[in-house]
Amino acid sequence: MITDVRDTAGMRECRLCGQPVREFFDFGRQPVSDAFRDPADRSAEFHYDLAVGVCGGCAMVQQSHEVPRTRMFHADYPYRSSGSAFMRDHFEAFARRLLETELAVHDPFVVEIGSNDGVMLRTIAGAGVRHLGVEPSGGAADTARACGVRVLTEFFQEDSARRIRAEDGPADVIYSANTVSHIARLDSVFRGVDALLAPDGLFVVEDRYLGDIVDSTAFDQIYDEHFYLFSVESVCTVSRRFGFELVDITRLPVHGGTIRFTIARAGARPVAPVVGELLTAEHARGLADHGTLDRFAVRTRQARADLVGLLRWLRDEGRVVVGYGATAKSATVTNFCGIGPDLVPYICDSTPAKHGKLAPGSGIPVRPPAAFADPYPDYALLFAWNHAEEIMAKEHGFAAAGGRWIRYVPRVHIV
Ligand code: SAM
Repeated sequence: MITDVRDTAGMRECRLCGQPVREFFDFGRQPVSDAFRDPADRSAEFHYDLAVGVCGGCAMVQQSHEVPRTRMFHADYPYRSSGSAFMRDHFEAFARRLLETELAVHDPFVVEIGSNDGVMLRTIAGAGVRHLGVEPSGGAADTARACGVRVLTEFFQEDSARRIRAEDGPADVIYSANTVSHIARLDSVFRGVDALLAPDGLFVVEDRYLGDIVDSTAFDQIYDEHFYLFSVESVCTVSRRFGFELVDITRLPVHGGTIRFTIARAGARPVAPVVGELLTAEHARGLADHGTLDRFAVRTRQARADLVGLLRWLRDEGRVVVGYGATAKSATVTNFCGIGPDLVPYICDSTPAKHGKLAPGSGIPVRPPAAFADPYPDYALLFAWNHAEEIMAKEHGFAAAGGRWIRYVPRVHIV
């Protein structure tokens, strides 16, 4: 059993094409981002080296070390997609669109990879359409089942895809949000999609966009689960490698900048002009160039210095700063910046499974949302910045009471 990922050799060759990978940032030792700990737990915490590089062959940005997937995704995986009203609306709108378009055929079948608590598939199930969620995290899968969603509690990979195909027939749509980038064995995912997708079917993938991450210096989007950071070029290349083609792109204002990549079998669908336009734009700006990524690295170090400087100054001034949102992203911020309970005494979060636990690595206690107003702190460090509008509207009483938000994306500032 692997107990420490430092002991595995850092990958210097691309997982997908075998070309050399050049590392451009090393965050050092990091815990599993969603491994919240019981305060009584004295066992050694699992750590690994979080480093990212770019492939010189296919431009895929990828991590050098792979955390075993069962350490991240298991029965107690705490993330629930339905926690955000904005994301509930987003997934419901997409499900309705699918029902009106690709699924408006005789006896349609849709598969979702990483269906979590059924936030998207519950609308499909409600419409009586054949569907299957593939979700290895048992707790999330059970929540989906309770909403009438059919779920297979497994990792999606080539063999599970072949089994689904044998039992349910071909899928008209295979959808996956914020999951495909989490799967180091992307080759197995594409082979599975190849086995399961109907000849004219669509593989629709939503994931955070490298261009937005670089532009906004969103360094905290890099953590164990986000094994790959996708660009249009890298998704084009990996699709082609497995006999597919990127046929459409939609930029989405979710999670700080996402792209919906629509992939079909090569030649099966017309390619929308926007694909070529964005590819050209990526080349023109040198998105995968060493200079671009090295400047991202410089800005990331600056963000760390600015944030730690601000937090120390506020502490020395006697101000209380509390974290808002014990997100997986916050694990990178706290552990990379060395932020512990001395600077941020607790983090408020709405996920019951995290309450009373300690945040991974940093050991910062996690408290329920009610603690936020009891009393309000002077400042709140907004770890869940991708839901800023929704949170700030909900917590309008905090600002009304004189509280200020600290944000660190796209740069450290107070609002
Ligand atoms: N799709 C949801 C969303 O966008 O909110 C959930 C995203 S969550 C960050 C990632 C999900 O992918 C988790 O529920 C995890 O258990 C699941 N997952 C991870 N690896 C997977 C795999 N190989 N096959 C299917 N699901 C996987």
